[in-house]
Amino acid sequence: MIENIVTIKLPADEELTIKKNHLCGGEGKRIAIVTGIHGDELEGQYVCYELVKRITANMSSLHGTVDIYPSINPLGMESVTRAVPMSGLDMNRIFPGSDTGAIAESIAAKLVQDISGADICIDIHASNIFIREIPQVRITSENSSKLLRYAKMLNTDLVWVHDSNAVGEGSLADTLNRSGVPTLVIEMGVGQRITKEYCFQLLSGIFRLMSELGIWSGAEEKVSHPMVSTDGSVKVIHSGAGGIFIPNAEHNMWLSKGSVIGEIVNPISGTVEQEVSAPADGLLFSLREYPIVYEGSVIARILSMDGE
Ligand SMILES: [Zn+2]
Repeated sequence: MIENIVTIKLPADEELTIKKNHLCGGEGKRIAIVTGIHGDELEGQYVCYELVKRITANMSSLHGTVDIYPSINPLGMESVTRAVPMSGLDMNRIFPGSDTGAIAESIAAKLVQDISGADICIDIHASNIFIREIPQVRITSENSSKLLRYAKMLNTDLVWVHDSNAVGEGSLADTLNRSGVPTLVIEMGVGQRITKEYCFQLLSGIFRLMSELGIWSGAEEKVSHPMVSTDGSVKVIHSGAGGIFIPNAEHNMWLSKGSVIGEIVNPISGTVEQEVSAPADGLLFSLREYPIVYEGSVIARILSMDGE
């Protein structure tokens, strides 16, 4: 059943509505699936579509509630902007929001109230237009003891225990985790695109998690074990020069120390400004997608298991 959780009047007789699909299969636990907080991140759109399609085709397997919130920043999505248009606010910095605040704060507050009391929440992000990410769960070190067992069910390649902005103060995840709703953040793919294989991979994980919680009794999904960042160390590789980044390595591959990740080339002089190489053996889990780079731009991240 599609329900409106917020309706806000906009200038010029327009209305902004935030919707959820409330799928109920009787008594049981409740899971909330949120995406679209950042308007340029679209991977979660396909996940929501497939999730609703598969559940509604097999309602007898649902024993509890799945609430799906596909678009928390619809104005951003319509205008291809990450932030909330006009205000320029990053919506994932304004939680828990405020009922009496401006549009974005009011949406944030209503969303938190609506999810409140759920047994678990998954907030799906899709990196940005600059960096491609392998499917990963991000959790803070503070919450890792509580969330790691759920994170491992989600069929991602990596669980990154990291105090990043996605899970930090002002984020939906931080607000919900503090209020007692265990919340896991997914980062996968790249901004403005849909990577179907990653979506299918995560869907297997979501159904597995729902099975483990007793919400779903459909076919058992097999999930693979993710690497966990705390078993090694994350190395961030920055550009040492401006130019055009041309990758050489494949994303989601193991690299040996010194192997070439790519080159930063100069289109007017026809020269290679920098050869970017792996500082250690490890998994290439983030890779530059947008070719224009400046000195200091993030080129790649590697999860190294060498214990350095
Ligand atoms: Zn995001």
